[in-house]
Amino acid sequence: MIEFRSVSYGFEDVPVLEDVSLTIDDGEFVLLAGANGSGKTTLLRHCNGLLEPDSGEVLVDGTPVAANLIAARSSVGMVFQHPRDQFVAATVGADVAFGPENLGLPRAEIDRRVATALEAVNMAGRADARIDALSGGEQSRVAIAGALAMEPTHLVLDEPFTGLDEPSRRSVLDRLESLSRDGTGLLLATHDLRDVCQLADRVIAMQDGQIAIDGPTERTLAELEGLEVRVPDAPRC
Ligand code: ADP
Repeated sequence: MIEFRSVSYGFEDVPVLEDVSLTIDDGEFVLLAGANGSGKTTLLRHCNGLLEPDSGEVLVDGTPVAANLIAARSSVGMVFQHPRDQFVAATVGADVAFGPENLGLPRAEIDRRVATALEAVNMAGRADARIDALSGGEQSRVAIAGALAMEPTHLVLDEPFTGLDEPSRRSVLDRLESLSRDGTGLLLATHDLRDVCQLADRVIAMQDGQIAIDGPTERTLAELEGLEVRVPDAPRC
């Protein structure tokens, strides 16, 4: 469970998050919607301690993130907007192994996690591939595998469809759907709700650093007009 308790945060005195409180349960698929600049990325970066609140508190599984950063980062995997920014190795397998290696796990366990994570994103057998030779969609899936190798309860994704062509977008969507089906909690920020809204249980919409709307997908989408979020024309979610 990820819990925000009255979280406020500003960049150099410019308020960005204002008194944000929310709870995300294990296994939920939550979309974080809102116009560019509404504070989505800033909120996501609080989920595993990349940013710390100026006031208020973020808890993961009941423990304040700041009190146990390693536990928070093991429970909450983060996939950034531009996967290239998060790769640390030249090949797929080495990159996905990086997180578990840093946990000091035995080699056999690391290998098992890498194989399972690559399988989950449909990249089994590609461990030796060079990352810079992959398509954008494949890179996105490797970034997701890197987060999954930590065996997180939640995966937090920031605009995971940016720059992807339609087949790549579709393949990332398929992976997210199967992860959700298998019980991984997903928190996904996007300003474009096409397709993905059909998978989500709940939509949280942000406006000017505050939660404007929060509720089950179908009901929330009807209220989203006016927040400059691209709402799908059809099919209905
Ligand atoms: P979103 O993800 O919804 O586009 P962000 O969380 O990225 O929104 O940004 C929210 C606000 O915070 C914006 O006004 C943005 O300009 C500002 N902001 C984001 N990052 C920084 C930063 N590193 N320094 C100063 N201001 C920032």
